[in-house]
Amino acid sequence: MTEAFSLLFAAALLLTLSLKLWLGARHIRHIARHRRQVPEAFRDAITLEAHQRAADYTIAKTRLGLLSAWLDTAVIAALTFGGGLQWLALQTMALSGQPLLAGMALVSAVAVISGAVSLPLSLYGTFGVEARYGFNKTTIGLFIADQLKGMALGAVIGLPLLALVLWLMEISGPLWWLWVWLVWSGFQLLMVALYPTLIAPLFNKFKPLEDQALQRRIEALLDRAGFKSQGVFVMDGSRRSSHGNAYFTGFGSAKRIVFFDTLLTQLSHAEIEAVLAHELGHFKRRHIVKRIAFAFALSLGFLFLLGQLMHAPWFYAGMGVTLPSTAMALILFFTAVPAFAFPLTPLSSMLSRRHEYEADAFAAAETEAGELIQALVKLYRDNASTLTPDPLHSAFYDSHPPAALRIQHLKGQHS
Ligand SMILES: [Zn+2]
Repeated sequence: MTEAFSLLFAAALLLTLSLKLWLGARHIRHIARHRRQVPEAFRDAITLEAHQRAADYTIAKTRLGLLSAWLDTAVIAALTFGGGLQWLALQTMALSGQPLLAGMALVSAVAVISGAVSLPLSLYGTFGVEARYGFNKTTIGLFIADQLKGMALGAVIGLPLLALVLWLMEISGPLWWLWVWLVWSGFQLLMVALYPTLIAPLFNKFKPLEDQALQRRIEALLDRAGFKSQGVFVMDGSRRSSHGNAYFTGFGSAKRIVFFDTLLTQLSHAEIEAVLAHELGHFKRRHIVKRIAFAFALSLGFLFLLGQLMHAPWFYAGMGVTLPSTAMALILFFTAVPAFAFPLTPLSSMLSRRHEYEADAFAAAETEAGELIQALVKLYRDNASTLTPDPLHSAFYDSHPPAALRIQHLKGQHS
């Protein structure tokens, strides 16, 4: 059984890596082949220069993704088959004879190691690729401050949660996975509720929207759609990057609308209204609630599965570990799941793209489809997003439909 699981896990790792490399290589080839001409439908709005910049930027980002796929696989192989986790388990057990403390030390060590390994690529992504295409506004000081704040938050929020989960796994009997699921779901909801007012302000400044004309326009849209919110805020996204965005956060009547300051300078009022109507569409069509419900169901399934695996010696030995513990079971499980689940990515991407079409249809009904099309074209141009993705790569990964299809769909909507 041990050897069979070893083989299965190694096969899943290799299959996932090969799939990532193959899709990435296809994407790069496809974009390079279409680099010489702006697609027919965009000739009026996008220059050849902008099109080629988008092609080069997308290729650079895809290459970085491929490098990261190699690195991830190497780290997982070193931690499991290479004996890394076994060694870490010995060290943390020597550190503390108390299983809960040793378990927390083990999980922390794995978190710190994977963070440290991905740091060089993250640095290169921000100060190499993003900077080369003029998007990066993050200074080294801000980058370091962000990392430190992220680590402090991880310790303040993550460690007590981890202690609670490990403790429940130890003491609450065969149904522990149900208790952990309740704690985990409650924690997720708490984070959604606390994020806008407690966590996001640690990283960015939020100011109420000052533009009165735009404010009135937005309020009229919200009234028409019967939508209540706690106000419209502008976030200083330009501190880190010139990519623009808009989003909703929070729950119930405490929902906030947040615009990146960069988006407000890129788009006209009518276009901003159309983008907001699209976001509103996600709420009105209950996409957010569906996503949360889906995530809860998935985590219940995963925890149940972990409950079955954690007492099977082959599960540990198959991944190179002979020191079973609750913390080790957690680590191994969350290492194995992505490798086995990666081929299912297209299902979630497909669902997400369907939601995007629905939100676009809502925006077209509430505002003007033409304004949303103009906004999309501007955002594609200013964010250097490719207009010519490889169709298979796009079907596999993309949460949003390709520009051409999305605009075609919007043109078919008559408001
Ligand atoms: Zn959307």
